Amino acid sequence: MRYTERLFRPPAEAVSLIFQVALGCPHNTCRFCGMYKGVPYRVRPLDEVLAEFAEAGRLSPSERRVFLADGDVMALSFERLRALLEALDRHFPQLARVNLYANGSSVLAKSDAELAALRGLKLSTLYVGLESGDEELLRRVDKGETAEGLCEAVRRAQAVGLTCSVMVLLGLGGRAGSARHADATAALLNRMQPRLLSALRFVEVPGADMDAGYVPVTEREAAAELVRLLRGLQLERTVFRANHTSNPVPLEGRLPRDRDALVARLESLLPRLDARGPGRLPFAL
Ligand code: SF4
Repeated sequence: MRYTERLFRPPAEAVSLIFQVALGCPHNTCRFCGMYKGVPYRVRPLDEVLAEFAEAGRLSPSERRVFLADGDVMALSFERLRALLEALDRHFPQLARVNLYANGSSVLAKSDAELAALRGLKLSTLYVGLESGDEELLRRVDKGETAEGLCEAVRRAQAVGLTCSVMVLLGLGGRAGSARHADATAALLNRMQPRLLSALRFVEVPGADMDAGYVPVTEREAAAELVRLLRGLQLERTVFRANHTSNPVPLEGRLPRDRDALVARLESLLPRLDARGPGRLPFAL
């Protein structure tokens, strides 16, 4: 495949065949995100993308998993998404699932019947960045989505059989907003009931542009924030992961079954985490 850098994908898509059906992010203003800063958003011509599907299908017809990039591919029109999914199904006879990043407003712009039709065409997992359940914080970081809207989007998508993998960002509220961020996020997740939940730690990557008053949490505070978040969760059937390299302590489990064990493990490790700074950072910044 030919890719236009920089290409991002969720860790779980490591073995998927990836096609860039659009370049960049249609929103691209989130202050915490450096992924596509400087990349003008562009939807690639349909014939160009379909030719790429056909070529890949000839070379590797047994692919079962496809990830469509770049950011918020759900923002494409229903007709474009349907055309892409139908073509993938033709070229990859064993195709099982197609996954992509989705913003809440892009999900809400589709009717229930359209969402169900996309599910029927093997659209499977939507990766949705909630980041926080704190509406004021989402406004401060220019998320361009409301927590309420994201909650409704996930509930509607899951109601037609799509799986939503929801991401939250530890430390996004900084030191002053940590407790409020954790409590509001837990409360929102309880109403949302995502099937998959990932907690990542916010790290000020190049391209991020947090406001001047933002004071980052320490490594220990980030882990304590996760303890507070986990304690507030009342999820009925969720696979939880905090094993991205940004996390101070890698964790994975099923909620509600493993919640107390996850909290106990985190709490036992708190004294060993950096209480003065960010600790070990995942990237060379
Ligand atoms: S977080 Fe998602 S929606 Fe926001 S700028 Fe980054 S890629 Fe776009």
